[in-house]
Amino acid sequence: MKLITIEEHYMSKTVNETYMRVMTQIVSPAVRARLEGLKGFLANSAISDLDGVRIAAMDKQGVDMQVISYGNNNPMDLPADAAIPLCRQANDELAAAIRCHPARFAGYAALPVGDPKAAADELSRAVNELGFVGVSLNGSYNGRFFDEPEFFPIFQQAEKLDVPVYFHPGFPNEKVADYYYKGENIPQEVSTVFASYGYGWHVDAGIHMMRMILSGIFDKLPNLKLITGHWGELVPYYFDRIDEMIPEATTGLDRPFSEIYREHVYITPSGIASRNSAMPAINGMGADHVLWSHDFPYVKRDNVRDFLMDLPISQEEKERVAYKNAETLLGL
Ligand code: CA
Repeated sequence: MKLITIEEHYMSKTVNETYMRVMTQIVSPAVRARLEGLKGFLANSAISDLDGVRIAAMDKQGVDMQVISYGNNNPMDLPADAAIPLCRQANDELAAAIRCHPARFAGYAALPVGDPKAAADELSRAVNELGFVGVSLNGSYNGRFFDEPEFFPIFQQAEKLDVPVYFHPGFPNEKVADYYYKGENIPQEVSTVFASYGYGWHVDAGIHMMRMILSGIFDKLPNLKLITGHWGELVPYYFDRIDEMIPEATTGLDRPFSEIYREHVYITPSGIASRNSAMPAINGMGADHVLWSHDFPYVKRDNVRDFLMDLPISQEEKERVAYKNAETLLGL
């Protein structure tokens, strides 16, 4: 069975040099230390490879195609004047690799979201000229979530081009991280992971997806599609509570929250290979809205394919999750 994984990452060494030069001037010492901590990862990991190392790993794991997005230190984080050329550079670099391996790689655009009009233009260029199949946003931008009105042109463009927007988690706003995840009895290294990939950025991404729905964006853009990882970043587990406590009478939306979510949102595992996580999410969403992902190269495991094949769902559902939904949603 063909297998397409759709939340896979790369980083560019040259893009990261510029990113670090700009970001280290404007962030707090704590954030600067975190960004600099990635240098070793970038030097030693497969993340900057868009050729033989990646393809060998895919072959070993039985992955036919990766849909690739930018990883940490995403150029979208920068002020617009720096982000505009740097996102273009990152997208061009990924596009060149896709041209070399068109059967194995596809790509999501990185966008200079600090200038939403320029971001919409870059998305159009990425889809129409580079052949990209979507856009990936990492976290929020400068303390603002993407449901805020200034970002509307990006989603309007995504709908017009008929490409989905992947909401990847990012480090929560520093004030939020300090309030929720720091404590005198919690060691700093625990706090950092607690605030991010240990738990906090999943809550943040789930809230972000809820905000998109509660903002009513799908009334304005009825064909907009969003993707979210980590089995829906906790939200599908809470459908019943949300529908009961934030009903249409409160939201002013024409349908229950979960109905809008099931129609417009697609979820992936992002390498969380656990049945306890998978089955409630798949049951909550239906197999038509579940796609596969590994989170290469951050997650290191060899059962990317076997975990899907061993799930207690039908063969036909496995085919949809493994590749048919990806082919339809991303136009592969
Ligand atoms: Ca990821």
